[in-house]
Amino acid sequence: MYPASFEYFAPETIDEALTILERFGDEGKVLAGGQSLIPLMKLRFAAPRAVVDINRIAGLDGLGEDDGRLRIGALVRHKACERSALLHGRWGTLGDAAPQISDPLVRNLGTVAGSLAHADPQGDWGSAMLAMRAEVVARGSGGARTISIDDFLQGPFTTALRPGEIVTEVRVPDPGPRSGGTYLKLERKVGDFATVGVAVHLTLANGTVGRAGIALTGVGPINTRATAAEEALAGRTLDDEAIAEAARLAAEAAEPLADVRGSVEYKRNAIRVLTERGLRHAAESAREEPRDGDEQFAGHETVEGVMDEIEEKDQ
Ligand SMILES: Cc1cc2nc3c(=O)[nH]c(=O)nc-3n(C[C@H](O)[C@H](O)[C@H](O)COP(=O)(O)OP(=O)(O)OC[C@H]3O[C@@H](n4cnc5c(N)ncnc54)[C@H](O)[C@@H]3O)c2cc1C
Repeated sequence: MYPASFEYFAPETIDEALTILERFGDEGKVLAGGQSLIPLMKLRFAAPRAVVDINRIAGLDGLGEDDGRLRIGALVRHKACERSALLHGRWGTLGDAAPQISDPLVRNLGTVAGSLAHADPQGDWGSAMLAMRAEVVARGSGGARTISIDDFLQGPFTTALRPGEIVTEVRVPDPGPRSGGTYLKLERKVGDFATVGVAVHLTLANGTVGRAGIALTGVGPINTRATAAEEALAGRTLDDEAIAEAARLAAEAAEPLADVRGSVEYKRNAIRVLTERGLRHAAESAREEPRDGDEQFAGHETVEGVMDEIEEKDQ
């Protein structure tokens, strides 16, 4: 199907983009990678009167550390994160999530900020950013504001963005040394959205867990922070018992629906298994941050692999 007709704008500055968006109010849409917006327009689930393409605006494609935080500009593609030499060790949750998003075609165009603005409950970046306690910077005609990721993601396809606002960057606070994490995703085949996904991040302090971040994909109306599991780990030695308890609490936080990808019970079990695996990997990488160029943890899980482990544990 063809999209409904719309006016197309390709401004070269943020101010110009904001002026156009202000004119159209909630009938204007930002276009970044187009990997979610264009399909929605073709299906006529979205029919904006104006599409404001931000791809010609300079300075939005930066990815780097600056002043104690990681800054991801609004035009940073999934591919740039996948290939970044920076996103290992303490930033490993992000580096492991990137290559698991869809396929190379989508990763070449789709952006991190666009994914968060789209707020699909099955989006992988939402969980990775929750685990890393990221912030989103939004600019409107009245100025810029910074929104914590917990406040930004409000519901399925719903965010705290106001009409006319543009996400200019995503900021992730530096978790400091002795930090590490990963993103594990169970998918039916490579390129699929998550059956379930688990983002884990740990900061160790004096042999115990200083801070834990755990968030879940595909098992709720939006990416879900597993708060009870995070709190159960804080200040504890990361032994088998602590890991098992946190994994159980993460599974309890999940609110999956039965669908073609699996039953409620299956998805809860998968969350438990992936949380355990994620915590073990996060602890390992926190103890020994890899040097640039070290091989990354292979985060893809096959349905068969996780099923074997679920069955073993249930016996
Ligand atoms: C076949 C396929 C498979 C996919 N599989 C996965 C997957 O496995 N995991 C996953 O996480 N995602 C997946 N996606 C989605 C993909 O990650 C998209 O890239 C992402 O959801 C949207 O990013 P985008 O830059 O393409 O945004 P766009 O499509 O350009 O925009 C999406 C929405 O966000 C808004 N928006 C975009 N940028 C901004 C901004 N800077 N400020 C304000 N609003 C903005 C737009 O107005 C629109 O409402 C898949 C997509 C496809 C087509």
